Amino acid sequence: MAATTVTVRLTNSAERLVRMEHPWLYAESIRSASRAGEAGDLAVIFDHKKKLLALGLWDPDSPIRIRVLHRGKPRSIDRTFFAERLREALDIRAPLGAEGTSGFRVVNGESDGLPGLVLDRYETTLVLKLYTSAWLPHLAEVRAAIDTVLAPERLVLRLARAIAGACEERAGLRDGAILAGSALDGPIVFRENGLRFRCDPVHGQKTGFFLDQRENRARVGELARGKRVLNAFSYTGGFSLYAARGGAASVVSLDSSRAALDEARENFALNAELPDVARASHECVCEDAFGALARFGHERRRFELVVIDPPAFAKAKSEVGSALSAYAKLAELACGVLAADGELVMASCSARIDAEALARAIRSGAARAGRTLSEWLRTAHGLDHPVRFPEGAYLKCLWLRAGG
Ligand code: SAH
Repeated sequence: MAATTVTVRLTNSAERLVRMEHPWLYAESIRSASRAGEAGDLAVIFDHKKKLLALGLWDPDSPIRIRVLHRGKPRSIDRTFFAERLREALDIRAPLGAEGTSGFRVVNGESDGLPGLVLDRYETTLVLKLYTSAWLPHLAEVRAAIDTVLAPERLVLRLARAIAGACEERAGLRDGAILAGSALDGPIVFRENGLRFRCDPVHGQKTGFFLDQRENRARVGELARGKRVLNAFSYTGGFSLYAARGGAASVVSLDSSRAALDEARENFALNAELPDVARASHECVCEDAFGALARFGHERRRFELVVIDPPAFAKAKSEVGSALSAYAKLAELACGVLAADGELVMASCSARIDAEALARAIRSGAARAGRTLSEWLRTAHGLDHPVRFPEGAYLKCLWLRAGG
């Protein structure tokens, strides 16, 4: 536990936010603080009647000055507290084991009561990803809780880019450090809905795999039978494998990263004992997705199912406009390769763009291509990515059918 505390009073509106269970308090929400404080100090928040309102992690380095850990009665923030949160999180995810999934998000940050902290599981390896250096003084207690509740064979640490320097300076911790267990001597193989995937939790994007798309991938699998499928921004072939197992005639994985496509090929090889996977032809195209989609259009290549799952285009507010243009452009290009009655599955993981704005961008792109796309479903994250506050709902996935 952090040795020091910062006693805090909030503005009235921020007090209401905390009561509504919002986990973030920005600097402007703070009316008074007893000290300047250091990252990881425990913020002890009192309401206007001088009654304890909440406890949180103090972070002077971030615009989010406090991340709320606990509301209500006083309690210690220690391994027992963290273990309780881990157990609650595991309970929610209990159904996943039965469906043949051994890679999933165990803790989804704020929405599982541990703000700024993500814990992913790949078989017996756990990957702890921190988004604030305020966790550093609590790391020993968090690790003790992880050992008690999950007893992993290995624990890998990943650090958000913004805090990597501070973590190295303050605690000598580097992105990719192995906190417990042996070093990895190759990729981990885990299962998702019975499919086998490789992942490299030390060097891979995020914690090695995009776990948030599991349920959307399963749906793509259900739509794929007999179809020519294009998976743009494929990374290591998640959607591609589900399409192949679902009986796709052919699958194209398109990504600008050669390393990701090499992994996609390996993932196909790993599942080759499944007859539908072995039967589907799989082509990897290493190219900019915008350029390749345009080229396929000119070449009159057609697909009955197109999946577009790009990286977050709008990381900052100032990028929202250009991101919406990019989504519109992708929809326009997708229309150029969609067969009559083809299906388009388009995802956005930009938290600043909501489903409605994405839908508008897609419609305008389709209109430019002279086609109509009828939306028939909207989906989001899987059950291991609960969302308990508006900013946590970053993933939207729209399912559309092309006319004519
Ligand atoms: N759909 C994937 C996750 C996509 S992550 C899954 O289910 O696992 C985004 C991917 O987009 C990354 O693999 C990245 O290499 C790729 N990428 C980023 N910009 C790109 C571009 N302009 N053209 C093609 N691929 C791109």
